[in-house]
Amino acid sequence: MHGDEIREAARRVIDSGWYLQGKENEQFERHYAEYIGSPFAIGCANGLDALIWIFRAYIELGVMQPGDEVIVPANTYIATILGITENGLKPVLIEPRRETLEIDDELIEQHITPRTKAICIVHLYGRCACTQKILDICKKYNLKLVEDNAQAHGCFWRQPTSDSSLKGRGVDSFASVWGAHTADSTQYNLLKQNALANRKAPTEAEEIMWSLLNGNNLGLHFRRQHIILDYIVDFICLDKGLVIELDGGYHNDLQQKEYDEQRTAHLQRLGYTELRFTNDELLCSPDAVIARIKGVASKLPSLKGGVGGRLVHTGAIGDAAGHSFYPGKNLGALGDAGAVTTNDPELAAAVRALANYGSQRKYVFKYAGRNSRLDEIQAAILEVKLKYLDADIAKRQEVARCYYERIDNPLVELPERLDDAQNVYHLFPIIVKDGKRDALHDYLAEKGIGTVIHYPIAPHKQECYSRESWNLPQLSLPITEFLADAELSLPISPCMTPEQIEYVVQCLNEWQ
Ligand SMILES: *Cc1c(COP(=O)(O)O)cnc(C)c1O
Repeated sequence: MHGDEIREAARRVIDSGWYLQGKENEQFERHYAEYIGSPFAIGCANGLDALIWIFRAYIELGVMQPGDEVIVPANTYIATILGITENGLKPVLIEPRRETLEIDDELIEQHITPRTKAICIVHLYGRCACTQKILDICKKYNLKLVEDNAQAHGCFWRQPTSDSSLKGRGVDSFASVWGAHTADSTQYNLLKQNALANRKAPTEAEEIMWSLLNGNNLGLHFRRQHIILDYIVDFICLDKGLVIELDGGYHNDLQQKEYDEQRTAHLQRLGYTELRFTNDELLCSPDAVIARIKGVASKLPSLKGGVGGRLVHTGAIGDAAGHSFYPGKNLGALGDAGAVTTNDPELAAAVRALANYGSQRKYVFKYAGRNSRLDEIQAAILEVKLKYLDADIAKRQEVARCYYERIDNPLVELPERLDDAQNVYHLFPIIVKDGKRDALHDYLAEKGIGTVIHYPIAPHKQECYSRESWNLPQLSLPITEFLADAELSLPISPCMTPEQIEYVVQCLNEWQ
């Protein structure tokens, strides 16, 4: 995809004669930092190096010492653990929750010792792994929070806010992320006046819809004329993030249509689900409209606390984050590439130096670093692909939506569904019950459907960690070991056609 633009970017670099540490790195770093919402981004050779440099920099800065402990999920790609052990730090492996497959925040505190210096969370499979509890633990014990964001570029964490003035108000809460769509206070007041006016003078269709939705009639709490960013939505169930819009005649106007589509996409990206009905649909068959609303709502996860909260990109939550641009990742280069993001200027400077032989000034070496830089040609390619990342994520979410709504086979279990803001579906893992994972893999392969296991041998069971000093294979981590035997990742990509998705669902549902 976007082949011409990528070739053009590569040619620009080839013709420039400048292949390292130039304008392309500068530009991509700036744009990637802006995208993630982090003050600093430093390009480096790959995702593993990004993690290695973060911990190494903490050691160089005196924040950690070899032998210190880092809490990390046991269910992850081995690179997360390698980033820790490479620095002589000790990984303390924590089981995932079976429902989410991500680190179980209930198990962290009991593993903290005086030597614990950091928690490294992994947004595995593209699912946000952060919780308020993890932040609270970091604060309580003065731990660094490092994120492995290799699989989750573009993912958000929906930080619950206890500040009641923000609750359900979207406006201030999203402002930090969606600069361009922020309603300032003047505009917010204007919107508020409009919303009030609309509420006082509803159309006939709006009145009927409200009579159907109001008063918990469907077991759901709806509000009407609610402000999100600089939009007013007709009806919303905050608990489900479900927006309902009624289209009068003027919505057929081409410009209005474009605006509506853009708005729908934008709301979707923020984790809302929008249902649109025409006035006629509602007036002619209100039962069908209600059935559809009920059906969709029943499949949506509860957002607990509502779609309030502040959205923060993963990679900008903690103190530092490692990102991989391995070609297969959601944002992939045409070769190896990676980056560190951080809000800490000292850490940023140390990482930049370490990845450049340890040098901050030519021929002056502050640290014994290595050569781990991002190629100009890869930076130029990533700059192109970054523009399309959100659109690609939306397509992945479309595939996932079909899977969640349509897969129905008692032998497989889908992970707990997160709202779309919090899952970019790098992978779509399922759990296959009764020890039948390999049988399902073979069955699907016969049908021409490729599936992959993430990951068949848990990190603590790997030979590299069997040495006396690590001794990890001795650990008993039953959930992690169970996942190594039961996880299977279904095909998911921005390029899947509706027919392909349908075929996967059908084959899977027929399997017994
Ligand atoms: C891919 C990946 C890495 C390593 O990234 P590379 O660029 O391949 O070195 C680290 N952690 C996780 C979770 C990954 O998926």
